[in-house]
Amino acid sequence: MSGPRVAVIGGGLTGLATAWHLRADAEVVVHEASDRLGGQVATVPFAEGPLDVGADAVLARQQAGPELLEQLGFGAEELVHPATGAVQLWLTDRLRPLPSGTVFGVPTDLRAVAASGVLKPADLAFVASEPLRPRRFVPGDRSVADLVGERFGARVVERLVEPLLGGVYAGDARQLSAQATLPPVWAAAEEHRSLLRGLTAHRAGAAADDRPVFVTVRGGLGRVIERLAGDLGPRVRTGSPVRAISAADHGLALHLDGRTEVVDAVVLAVPAAVAATLLAAGWPKASRELAGIRTASVGVVALAYDRGDAAALPAGSGVLVPRSQDRLVKAITISTSKWPHLADRRRLVLRASVGRVDDDRALALDDAALAERVDREVRAALGLLGPARERLVVRWPDALPQYLVGHHAKLDRIRHLLEQGPPGVHLGGASYDGVGLSARAADAVRLANDVRWQLAQRRTEGATP
Ligand SMILES: Cc1cc2nc3c(=O)[nH]c(=O)nc-3n(C[C@H](O)[C@H](O)[C@H](O)COP(=O)(O)OP(=O)(O)OC[C@H]3O[C@@H](n4cnc5c(N)ncnc54)[C@H](O)[C@@H]3O)c2cc1C
Repeated sequence: MSGPRVAVIGGGLTGLATAWHLRADAEVVVHEASDRLGGQVATVPFAEGPLDVGADAVLARQQAGPELLEQLGFGAEELVHPATGAVQLWLTDRLRPLPSGTVFGVPTDLRAVAASGVLKPADLAFVASEPLRPRRFVPGDRSVADLVGERFGARVVERLVEPLLGGVYAGDARQLSAQATLPPVWAAAEEHRSLLRGLTAHRAGAAADDRPVFVTVRGGLGRVIERLAGDLGPRVRTGSPVRAISAADHGLALHLDGRTEVVDAVVLAVPAAVAATLLAAGWPKASRELAGIRTASVGVVALAYDRGDAAALPAGSGVLVPRSQDRLVKAITISTSKWPHLADRRRLVLRASVGRVDDDRALALDDAALAERVDREVRAALGLLGPARERLVVRWPDALPQYLVGHHAKLDRIRHLLEQGPPGVHLGGASYDGVGLSARAADAVRLANDVRWQLAQRRTEGATP
């Protein structure tokens, strides 16, 4: 007798890792719409070697990411940690160091903030007075700008917090949920009268953790996708878009181009907007909630410069550019400085990120114009003497979900509404519980456990006379 059938929709890290965990438990098939696996993980040849042009680092302090790498057989000799964690801020035409000791940009070490010169004395005094000022009680979730701005001032949001969040969400601090995007800050605000004191305690714990913060794989994160896909073999189908899901007599019907397949469980590992379409007929209320999750489109411009043009490169792994500076570039990762395994590339290789949720100026340009503008801004920021010798533009439309104020409550509603409909639908992916790869790896473990539990329950029900 054949085993239970599980369809995983989406061949990004979430879908592939979920299928990988389930491969011994069920007849699992991954349906990937495009002809390429990996979703937002993509390694391409650039400047005489592989370069990640989507995600380039796994958060190593969140257990699930490193655990997945280990399970896939990546040994210590294949893993690389950043050579430096130092980052610069590009402010009014000069670079200043991002102060150490912040939690997502929220200061805890006032001396470091003062030394960086990022804040004016009045702003610094406002931060220092935080423990003395009364707290305003606000029930429920708040925006990042509201919570951090009230306690530390608007300039901390603008110069420190939003630039860091910009890399992850490309979002607007006035709309992003503090609860969903800044969990340690949110927890400190819930538990302590003073946010500064609460975060200082949190930092002390984090500082005692001597594990590296990030990790990547020699040869690029595309190798993780290759390894997952290699182990899954024919269970993975590319060029297999799923168009809809509906209830069937004995399970769920998967509507593919020109045919329908009935399965026992479906894992949705696609962006929320796609999930909304797939569930529109059978789960209309959940579908409407899913459709309300907004996204930001972003782009990565990879650039390679002659080493001779980079005489006085700033220290650190990259540069963050606050929105207020009115540049197209929002962040620069100097890949050959950040990653030791890329350090011996003949050219200086970097990635510049563009695109914000409410600002499409960069992505409205064609590739040539965008690369030209970004090249010029990067040269100005880093003091490079000549233009890039190689350029590559990679666009990521609607890639980054926006966890807006009330995000967690929205997720509760969506999951509740799904439970009201036909059973067997499991919802995962970056739109809900964390955008980073470690969060995706953790989500895959949860999804696989949920599917196993559902299948076990069905078996029990089937065995009941
Ligand atoms: C530029 C950029 C840089 C990033 N940098 C980092 C980083 O350094 N570190 C980090 O941890 N995270 C980073 N992230 C975030 C991280 O890459 C993503 O959160 C993660 O890869 C999302 O994985 P996923 O599987 O949930 O979704 P995706 O990767 O989006 O995969 C979803 C898949 O579903 C497929 N699909 C869509 N519709 C259908 C359909 N109807 N039927 C079948 N398949 C369908 C898509 O083609 C896609 O392959 C970055 C993201 C971007 C865009």
